[in-house]
Amino acid sequence: MNELDLRVSSDQLQAPVVTRSQVLVVGGGPAGVSAAVTAARSGATVTLLERYPTLGGLASGGMVLVLDDMVNGQDITVTGIVSEYVERLQMLGLAIVPPVEDRKTSTELWNKWSRYGTFDFHAHGLPKPICYAAAFDPDGWKRVSNDLVREAGVTLRLHSWFSRPIVDDGVIKGVICETKSGPQAYLADVVIDTTGDIDVASRAGASYIQDSYITTLVFRLGGVDTAEAERFEQENPKEGRAINRKIKRLLGGAWELWWLKTPIEGVVWCNAPHMSGYSGVDPADLTAAEFAARDRITEALAYVKENLPGFANAHLLDVAPQIGVRQTRLLEGEYVMTKDDVTSRRHFADTVARGRDYYYPYRSLLPKDVDQLLVAGRHYSATPEAQKMSREIPPCMAMGQAVGIAAALASENGVMVRDIEAADIQQGMRQHNADPGDIPSANATIDAGSVAAVETGA
Ligand SMILES: Cc1cc2nc3c(=O)[nH]c(=O)nc-3n(C[C@H](O)[C@H](O)[C@H](O)COP(=O)(O)OP(=O)(O)OC[C@H]3O[C@@H](n4cnc5c(N)ncnc54)[C@H](O)[C@@H]3O)c2cc1C
Repeated sequence: MNELDLRVSSDQLQAPVVTRSQVLVVGGGPAGVSAAVTAARSGATVTLLERYPTLGGLASGGMVLVLDDMVNGQDITVTGIVSEYVERLQMLGLAIVPPVEDRKTSTELWNKWSRYGTFDFHAHGLPKPICYAAAFDPDGWKRVSNDLVREAGVTLRLHSWFSRPIVDDGVIKGVICETKSGPQAYLADVVIDTTGDIDVASRAGASYIQDSYITTLVFRLGGVDTAEAERFEQENPKEGRAINRKIKRLLGGAWELWWLKTPIEGVVWCNAPHMSGYSGVDPADLTAAEFAARDRITEALAYVKENLPGFANAHLLDVAPQIGVRQTRLLEGEYVMTKDDVTSRRHFADTVARGRDYYYPYRSLLPKDVDQLLVAGRHYSATPEAQKMSREIPPCMAMGQAVGIAAALASENGVMVRDIEAADIQQGMRQHNADPGDIPSANATIDAGSVAAVETGA
């Protein structure tokens, strides 16, 4: 698109306006791509901005390589764009999903699938049930994201770092990005913040809380004989546990299964080292975390090669280009989800998206203080405890789809996003093959407002 011959002034800053679209999405991670593609498929003109050279956020740059938290028992509860990613990745040979007949609990199936990470990680004890989940390749995720964005006709600008919002009398009108060509402005009827750290909403004046959780610089090893490593662990569980304990100590923290298989033979991803005490929005902390993580990885790898069967020829393939930040600023929106809402599976009348067996009300995606702004993804309106349990990639994508629909509806009808009816978003979600979570599962707790809605079929 050609630059428009128009300049906006914000805090004495002059910036050429690059696009004027109905919907502007800032942040091209799982939530942002889902929001942009869904808004465009709903008929809106959409611009998507991303600071890095690739799409995918933590799912590609962060090398977080298992899609999970999308089943309730045998039911697949998160559908829509995430299902499209899984199908497309499988067609490329870049995702591995347990077949239906393997989605059960047994030691044999645990031995077969656990090192892909495709199990119900909420279940207690071992073996955990194998379930619908996908182990995928990060570059495959980038390719699929590019294809979806291109096919939907989204205007995409990579290498564009959001720096400030354009707000007029409490209504957001667009944003300004920093680029190699200097500041550039993007205008829109509705702005969606999917930066993961509510960069846009926080600077636009929306209320938020700040917290932090563990930070992880994921890495991948190549040259691993995974069959030998699995055989050793299964035949020598006690010895295997002792070696893995030592490795986790050297890494300074990791989940029990610190290495997982990927669709590429001999390549494993390591969800480690886990580091606490670093803020994901402070450059000084992030710099320190990058250095600390690399030191730990170097030390742990030397030990792994010497001591863990199957890893003798392992080498460091790559370290994620994007450090894994789980939690920073969280929106304090029209509704703040609590841990109890998640664990009691509270169902709301304005549920517009769902995760495994918990529900997101539209109000948790709506800032209180700024109009024509929506958020989706890991920075949605939740307490820190609730966010930890409800921020996996698939539900972030479902939230993205819900706000994409809401934004397109608001722009099309010339109304405020806060006036969009949840029922219209729910209907839109169904049209996009996504489960809006409007029908609570049998074990859900029904919110008082939801009873009336369910009874009247609203
Ligand atoms: C180490 C780790 C392991 C995890 N393990 C799993 C797992 O196994 N399975 C799972 O499903 N989930 C897992 N998660 C959680 C999951 O990865 C995230 O919650 C999810 O990716 C959030 O998606 P999002 O789109 O909200 O944010 P992000 O993935 O963070 O995407 C945000 C996007 O916005 C862009 N952006 C940010 N700021 C700006 C700006 N100022 N200007 C322009 N663009 C900007 C970023 O570059 C990025 O592309 C893990 C997370 C971490 C950190």
